[in-house]
Amino acid sequence: MVKSDEKSDGKRDNRPKRNTPRPEKSPAPEAEVTTENKPERRQSNRPKRKPQRKSENETTEKVEVKREDNTNRKKGKPKYSNKPLISVVIPTYNEEESITELSNSLERVLSREAKNNYEVLFIDDGSTDSTFSVMREINKKNPKFRAIRFRRNYGKSAALSVGFNAAKGAVIITMDADLQDDPMEIPNLMSKIREGYDVVSGWKKKRNDPINKTLPSKFFNYITAKASGLKLHDFNCGLKAYRSEAAKSLDIYGEMHRYLPVLAHWNGFRITEIPVKHHPRKHGKTKFGASRYVKGFLDLLTLLFTSRYLKRPLHFFGTVGTLMGLVGFGIDAWLTVEWIMGDTFLSNRPAALLGIALIIVGVQLVSLGLLGEMIVKNFKRDEEYQIRENL
Ligand code: UDP
Ligand code: MG
Repeated sequence: MVKSDEKSDGKRDNRPKRNTPRPEKSPAPEAEVTTENKPERRQSNRPKRKPQRKSENETTEKVEVKREDNTNRKKGKPKYSNKPLISVVIPTYNEEESITELSNSLERVLSREAKNNYEVLFIDDGSTDSTFSVMREINKKNPKFRAIRFRRNYGKSAALSVGFNAAKGAVIITMDADLQDDPMEIPNLMSKIREGYDVVSGWKKKRNDPINKTLPSKFFNYITAKASGLKLHDFNCGLKAYRSEAAKSLDIYGEMHRYLPVLAHWNGFRITEIPVKHHPRKHGKTKFGASRYVKGFLDLLTLLFTSRYLKRPLHFFGTVGTLMGLVGFGIDAWLTVEWIMGDTFLSNRPAALLGIALIIVGVQLVSLGLLGEMIVKNFKRDEEYQIRENL
């Protein structure tokens, strides 16, 4: 950056050199970096008009280079020579015994439902058994079945996120690899998508799982439905269908796979639910232990907080903080009046400590909210707003 300014200052001396260095400069990746910072420089150097003109020329040229790069990237992305209609994304972790049978039945269903216009993406989430070798065999027999292999186990959410990014289909179907979800339900999901829904979520109405899983899950589903405003019976069913844009709009991180319909709902997509068949686990065992309940609860808290207050943290922290501060102030003011009237010593009134604590915590919460606002202001991104149509 500094270098280019120096050149623009010595405008006349450098003119003859123009033809020679430029072709080398423009394609260099460094050129892109310098253009991004340039506008700030221009503003600070305003009084120096003459050298500016030259640097403006330089910047526009460089910006053009950058734009070309972007458009190429954009052009490259949506153009698929053979766009599959349905992509099935399957997070898989140590499921060596299940995936051959699963792929056979998927093949049968999809050859009918998608007229062979489909792809199946296994995401091997760092399996330590022979899962990936089995996937290789399946891929050899039918190249429509592909696999992405993680270097280590990142979790179901990560697998889904990578699968959604890689999927090329207009509709993306997710299902578990353990044969608990039934591929025969795919046509039912698809007919709801054709009706116009953006997301169709499976509902394990008759669930074949032990009671220690079904009971807490009922409780979670109830709380999630109440808190999110989305009336579903079953949020965490592995079997779901998404219109591509709905799946790709989801910002999945941590273990948010439990709340994908909520995320899609908050992004403005239309969601429905259909009862689906659910089978007991045939092989292997569940990959989520008792910690799933604690994590699920914490993730729900995160979700509720970030969905409502991500853009206005002060409304949350400020309200709680101000209320606490006011209560604390009220208590202490009352005690002070009593003390002035000569009733008691403050050292005999433990409530005085409570009042002070409330005031301190209240002030801290308000400050936290203000800090949050400062962070939000700096991270404002337009991509967070879902645009439905653009004429
Ligand atoms: N899974 C995964 N990564 C993990 C844990 C699970 O990809 O870290 C996959 C797993 O292979 C299965 C799906 O996620 O295909 C659901 O897992 P599981 O059947 O253990 O969950 P449950 O049915 O007990 O809720
Ligand atoms: Mg399972």
